[in-house]
Amino acid sequence: MTADTRLTPDEKRRFADWLNARSIKACPMCGKRNWAIGDHLVAPIPYIAGELVSEGTSYPQAMLVCGNCAHTTYFNAVVIGLVGRTAANKE
Ligand SMILES: [Zn+2]
Repeated sequence: MTADTRLTPDEKRRFADWLNARSIKACPMCGKRNWAIGDHLVAPIPYIAGELVSEGTSYPQAMLVCGNCAHTTYFNAVVIGLVGRTAANKE
């Protein structure tokens, strides 16, 4: 059985508080202010030429999705405090 990896309501509130403290503006693509916090963290991984890397260092990101045009922007979940540095760099 796969664990539920969605952000909890408390984690979403902490991300929203973090965004509000930094005066996040309207969507840069459509100009609307209709943001939604994505349900999951996502994690780009380092690029290594010629290899498909499936483990090691990753960079967990929280998603902010425009409800009008679907533009999605990402914020570093470690900096926000949603993920510890150790958890983000399992090696
Ligand atoms: Zn938009």
